[in-house]
Amino acid sequence: MEYGKVTERELESIRQIVGVERVSVGESVLDLHSKDESFHKRQRPDAVVWPLNSEEISQILKIANERRVAVTPWGAGTSLEGNPIPVEGGIVLDLQQMNHILDLMKEDLQVRVEAGVIYKELNQSLSRDGLFFPPDPGASATIGGMVGNNASGIRTVKYGSTKDFVLHMVIVLPSGAIIRAGTNAIKSSSGYDLCRLFVGSEGTLGVITEVTLRLIGLPPEFMAAVIQFDTIRDATDTVSQIMRSGLSPAALELLDAPTVHVVNLFKKLSLEERPTLFVEFHGTSALGLKEELEWVKEIGADHHFLRFDAGIGREDRNRLWDARYKVRESIKVNNPGLYALVIDTAVPISKYSDMVEWGQKILEKKGLKGYAFGHAGSGNLHMEILGVPEEKAQWRRVLEAGEEIVSFALEGGGTATGEHGIGIGKRKFMEREHGESLNVMKQIKNLLDPNGIMNPGKIFE
Ligand SMILES: Cc1cc2nc3c(=O)[nH]c(=O)nc-3n(C[C@H](O)[C@H](O)[C@H](O)COP(=O)(O)OP(=O)(O)OC[C@H]3O[C@@H](n4cnc5c(N)ncnc54)[C@H](O)[C@@H]3O)c2cc1C
Repeated sequence: MEYGKVTERELESIRQIVGVERVSVGESVLDLHSKDESFHKRQRPDAVVWPLNSEEISQILKIANERRVAVTPWGAGTSLEGNPIPVEGGIVLDLQQMNHILDLMKEDLQVRVEAGVIYKELNQSLSRDGLFFPPDPGASATIGGMVGNNASGIRTVKYGSTKDFVLHMVIVLPSGAIIRAGTNAIKSSSGYDLCRLFVGSEGTLGVITEVTLRLIGLPPEFMAAVIQFDTIRDATDTVSQIMRSGLSPAALELLDAPTVHVVNLFKKLSLEERPTLFVEFHGTSALGLKEELEWVKEIGADHHFLRFDAGIGREDRNRLWDARYKVRESIKVNNPGLYALVIDTAVPISKYSDMVEWGQKILEKKGLKGYAFGHAGSGNLHMEILGVPEEKAQWRRVLEAGEEIVSFALEGGGTATGEHGIGIGKRKFMEREHGESLNVMKQIKNLLDPNGIMNPGKIFE
């Protein structure tokens, strides 16, 4: 499909809508909006616009649609699959200035926010009222970007992913129409679930401008433990057994020995460099949590743990989770000059151990360097497989390794991406994962965006 360029004519029309201050064609601004956190090739947009409300976005989309100019919504650009890279140039709509908490409905455990709100700032503000929004991708992501990618994180195992918290949204369609989807009731059987259609749509169907989120009360008590094993199989088998046992951890994370090594170096920790689980429970009674951890200890003992450190105080617990959040940075800093292909497969929990083992075998077979970690309790494996994209033969092996791990996940009834989205990198797996449903997705895309202006080149090849 041919896309129009943003010429002086379009720029002038947009300036009339948002004012001169909120449109830029400056080199550094275009560069900043040419990349996310992945290795995918950079591509500058023609212009970046910072809208303030749905009406401005509606007018801009009408112009873009009429002149067939590509439009890419932008949250914080922290994606890992090239999701917000404007591969066809055009306009980037950066929602950064739409960052207001509009209405905290404490009594209903709900909050209405603009899409550019950073979730960490939201949680900081909510904590004053004893509330929180659980999905936490770690990076400084926006609510719009989290909805766009259906992000999740370490607490998803207990609380769910972004899709489980979105009640209502305001969306601007490529035609310029402003629609409302969802309800403030926590349950509804009324018609098609349009909210869920836009969750995970990666900016390909419209621009989300407002989101009403369900919230959770902050747990009064928490307890964490670190469990270390001789083999990664013992660690992952422990995970499956914990999940099968009826326990409900609030976090259950895996780090292989090389990951523990880089985290030790980066965060100045002194963890033994062995396959490790971080586990945390939330609840109302310290006694109850202690019992749950005792149960976990018994399960770990069945799988020959070498160390079981419970009774971790608040400060050490925060340091551990900070270290977990910094895994990607730790890998990056300790491997200068190398890029990571990020695996994000997820499988039913019974297949998790086999998938991790398979991933490690593939790395060994292909002679590649990699790190395995992830949201094990949710069956989600992250592997960062390292290489240099310009070194063609080596990078081909990196890509082949990625494909073999994804194939394993798909054959086991899983998915190519548990939380990062399709973006550019995972498009090649869509047909295998969805079969005929992929055509239905394409029909929905054509219906809502017949000119294909919204974030082209993503999700579909
Ligand atoms: C260190 C690190 C750790 C991470 N860990 C995790 C993790 O544990 N779990 C996880 O899920 N992710 C993780 N991520 C990935 C990333 O943070 C998430 O995908 C996040 O949701 C992206 O949010 P963002 O605001 O940066 O969105 P962007 O990257 O700017 O955009 C994401 C997608 O949503 C679209 N979009 C953005 N805003 C809107 C809007 N208002 N309307 C419509 N579409 C929109 C964009 O076009 C794009 O396709 C991690 C990233 C980093 C760098």
